Amino acid sequence: MRVDRDRDTLQSPTLPGLYPVGEGAGFAGGIMSAALDGIRAAEAIARVAAG
Ligand SMILES: Cc1cc2nc3c(=O)[nH]c(=O)nc-3n(C[C@H](O)[C@H](O)[C@H](O)COP(=O)(O)OP(=O)(O)OC[C@H]3O[C@@H](n4cnc5c(N)ncnc54)[C@H](O)[C@@H]3O)c2cc1C
Repeated sequence: MRVDRDRDTLQSPTLPGLYPVGEGAGFAGGIMSAALDGIRAAEAIARVAAG
């Protein structure tokens, strides 16, 4: 199962501000992929915060 998310913003298409990330959301399957997905999400959040 994979939770939907926008390819560019990484936010949920139906619930803006929600960032489905990591294993539970279906975007990782191990320690490294979970960490890298977390970094991608942090960068996406930082872009929004910077305006
Ligand atoms: C026994 C075991 C051994 C493993 N060994 C390896 C290995 O050798 N190599 C490897 O690559 N991978 C391994 N894995 C897999 C790896 O641990 C996971 O893929 C990785 O931890 C997923 O990271 P995550 O951040 O997506 O999820 P998680 O690490 O599960 O983090 C999710 C976090 O969300 C929190 N949370 C949950 N619900 C809520 C809520 N409602 N509100 C607030 N917080 C909440 C949880 O407390 C948790 O801190 C192993 C897994 C297990 C169980």
